[in-house]
Amino acid sequence: MAKNFDVVVIGGGPGGYIAAIRAAQLGLSVACIDDAKNEGGGPALGGTCTNVGCIPSKAMLQSSEHFEHVQHGLADHGVDVKGVKLNLAQMLARKNGVVKQNNDGIQYLFKKNKVTFLHGRGAFVKVDAEGYEIAVSEPASTSVKGKHVIVATGSNPRALPSAPFDEKLVLSNTGALAIEAVPKKLGVIGAGVIGLEMGSVWRRLGAEVTILEAMPNFLAAADEQVAKEAHKLFVKQGLAIEMGVKIGDIKVGSKDVTVEYADASGAAHKLVVDKLIVSIGRVPNTNGLNPDAVGLKLDERGFVIVDEHCRANLPNVWAVGDVVRGPMLAHKAEEEGAAVAERIVGQHGHVNFSTIPWVIYTSPEIAWVGRTEQQLKADGVAYKAGSFPFLANGRARALGDTSGLVKFLADAKTDEILGVHIVGPMASELISEAVVAMEFRASAEDIARICHAHPTLSEATKEAALAVDKRALNF
Ligand SMILES: Cc1cc2nc3c(=O)[nH]c(=O)nc-3n(C[C@H](O)[C@H](O)[C@H](O)COP(=O)(O)OP(=O)(O)OC[C@H]3O[C@@H](n4cnc5c(N)ncnc54)[C@H](O)[C@@H]3O)c2cc1C
Repeated sequence: MAKNFDVVVIGGGPGGYIAAIRAAQLGLSVACIDDAKNEGGGPALGGTCTNVGCIPSKAMLQSSEHFEHVQHGLADHGVDVKGVKLNLAQMLARKNGVVKQNNDGIQYLFKKNKVTFLHGRGAFVKVDAEGYEIAVSEPASTSVKGKHVIVATGSNPRALPSAPFDEKLVLSNTGALAIEAVPKKLGVIGAGVIGLEMGSVWRRLGAEVTILEAMPNFLAAADEQVAKEAHKLFVKQGLAIEMGVKIGDIKVGSKDVTVEYADASGAAHKLVVDKLIVSIGRVPNTNGLNPDAVGLKLDERGFVIVDEHCRANLPNVWAVGDVVRGPMLAHKAEEEGAAVAERIVGQHGHVNFSTIPWVIYTSPEIAWVGRTEQQLKADGVAYKAGSFPFLANGRARALGDTSGLVKFLADAKTDEILGVHIVGPMASELISEAVVAMEFRASAEDIARICHAHPTLSEATKEAALAVDKRALNF
């Protein structure tokens, strides 16, 4: 007989595990089912984010940045280092260790909060008066019933039909984070967040990297001024980025991959690479979930259809994270997971989609929250803009990293902050101040009047806010 729970969560990524823990903290009985396996076949809680996404990519970005910095960034500080060598096996082992710490941490939190964890694949079986029955298989073989079900099954990388992932020569994010020898030539299709982060890692480790992107504009989702600045800096670092290309045939040989493409002017090219990373987006994952058994509705692209409260089309069925509409970001999944748990117990969980920050962890980092200048123009909003370069920031000079700028966009009449865009050192950390400010509907002047410690990078944020009203101190 199936064991009954108040809530069954399918998927143990950031959306699912946060929902499970929050629901348990709110006094509900909770089971979380997750099928991810580590190398030994054991559980690997944490989803894409922990296993093959946010966490391992940031570990590799950090390690590769150290490698580059020790070779090229220290002499200027008067630190001479000779005989620098790459130990890629150690770098990968460290990355795997960081992943494992996170896997184990989530399992510990499940135990601490009395969440029942079931290792296996969950599939809807039926619904009756007691709730939804979910079969759990591989390696588990059991079934559970939930009064409420939260679907948090995440997403999978989108493959090119002409070059399916083999994770040897044609790599998704999974293979891109586990290359065992630095390729001489690396091709990347897709200049989005993942393509830029992975391209940066392998370039820093010595690969000659070419990124091919179909869109005509670089980082079209980012503010144009910030995207242009970032593009300039990436090219200077040695990333070859070709925009507006049309990918043709891809031939996977025994040792290399040939990509035929037309450049923006229509001229034909052949790119021969040792490895090809395909990072052209992600697709929602409902493989094996058996949504038809209970009539759970998906849209034409495979996303579970939900309303603004993450309610699916069935009573007491919810869905969060990458498997539903909205940005595919771990922190968005987490916010939705916590909010759904709160709604189940009658609270008013809320996710503010207009203050979800975006971050690209390249060097320099790129981060933003709110609307871009081009969006404000398209929306017909009267706005003021102010920006400040890190070149004029004392802390950035002391660090030896003066690339980039902070840019504020505020309402022309009310001065309310509408968007903040940063390209530069520690942009991922600096953006939080803007998120807090926007969450409280602060004005640019509010930030300008707040005392920021000196010398800090955050003074560039204050200066950009001051610049909105042309009051920059320019120290
Ligand atoms: C290379 C890379 C880097 C990234 N970097 C960042 C970053 O820096 N910041 C950021 O915010 N986002 C980042 N992301 C995106 C982030 O990983 C996702 O947005 C996030 O993981 C989505 O969380 P989720 O809980 O919806 O799904 P997932 O994390 O995908 O978790 C879903 C889980 O459900 C399991 N599952 C699926 N179906 C079933 C089933 N039927 N039964 C049982 N289990 C099932 C899966 O195996 C998986 O473990 C990155 C992604 C990639 C690929």
